[in-house]
Amino acid sequence: MKTSNNLSNNVWVREVGTRDGLQSIDTIFTTDSKIEWIKQEAAAGIPEIEVGSFVPAKLLPQLADTTDVISQTCKINGLRVSALVPNFRGAIDGMGSGVHQLNYVLSVSEAHSQANTRKTVEEAVLDFSRIVSYRKDNPEYHHVLLGAGLATAFGCTIAGQIDEKDVLNTLEALLEFSPDEVVVADTVGFANPAQCRRIFKQVLAMTGSIPVSAHFHDTRGLGLANVAAALDVGVRRFDASLGGLGGCPYAPGASGNVVTEDLVFMLDAMGMDTGISLDKLLLARTFMESNLNGEVTKGAFVHAGFPKGFKSESVF
Ligand code: ZN
Repeated sequence: MKTSNNLSNNVWVREVGTRDGLQSIDTIFTTDSKIEWIKQEAAAGIPEIEVGSFVPAKLLPQLADTTDVISQTCKINGLRVSALVPNFRGAIDGMGSGVHQLNYVLSVSEAHSQANTRKTVEEAVLDFSRIVSYRKDNPEYHHVLLGAGLATAFGCTIAGQIDEKDVLNTLEALLEFSPDEVVVADTVGFANPAQCRRIFKQVLAMTGSIPVSAHFHDTRGLGLANVAAALDVGVRRFDASLGGLGGCPYAPGASGNVVTEDLVFMLDAMGMDTGISLDKLLLARTFMESNLNGEVTKGAFVHAGFPKGFKSESVF
């Protein structure tokens, strides 16, 4: 499957519930239950799963077993296993784990960056350059893909509105170091479709052949509307979370990501090709839910199913 942003009908869906979802709930999944969840989603055809994060275990005990989860899932046939890294230290740990891709995330919001990492945005960009250099200097890690993520690109719970120029300037600075993917994230659910069209148009004009992903939270019910807007201007990669599990521990009020199975249904209905089986995805959802201790999941497709006489559009 072609994975870059383009005008084809192939769409790459990355499951982030195992990272973004789990980090925001109290229940700590066992390593075995995470692995089973990941296996079931891979069997459903999900091409990439962000299985954890390289942060200190005392900060996020839910993700303390990330290295074990990677070592047991990176051999699943056809699955790209990725993990989030917030800094250089995390990236070094990550590269030694056997992971296929590391997604380094910095915050476009100066206030958010300072509050969460005690770094300026400029220092955070430098961290990415150090990570890229480290990979270059260590041939055994040359195969590890390095994504660069722009958090709070559509708004910030501390700073409020974010100037689009700040997003584009930060992206320009990151592009100096040739990331393998760019992720633009509405970390706290402020984005609207008009803003998505505007920002992603400019981002795609700058990134050329580098794949661009959109990461949306459904905090104000606009998650799928934002996906549709980004899709319209050429974005072909989206993050989502099974059952909408998720949020942000540093962003009060932030809710879960776009619901994976609702996203896949929408893409199917629009004639896009995800390679994902919705029936199998619902089985994975049932398994994931059976491990929760009272946490609420979301989603509409799970309740409504396929419409009578359902057929995918052929729009391209
Ligand atoms: Zn998120």
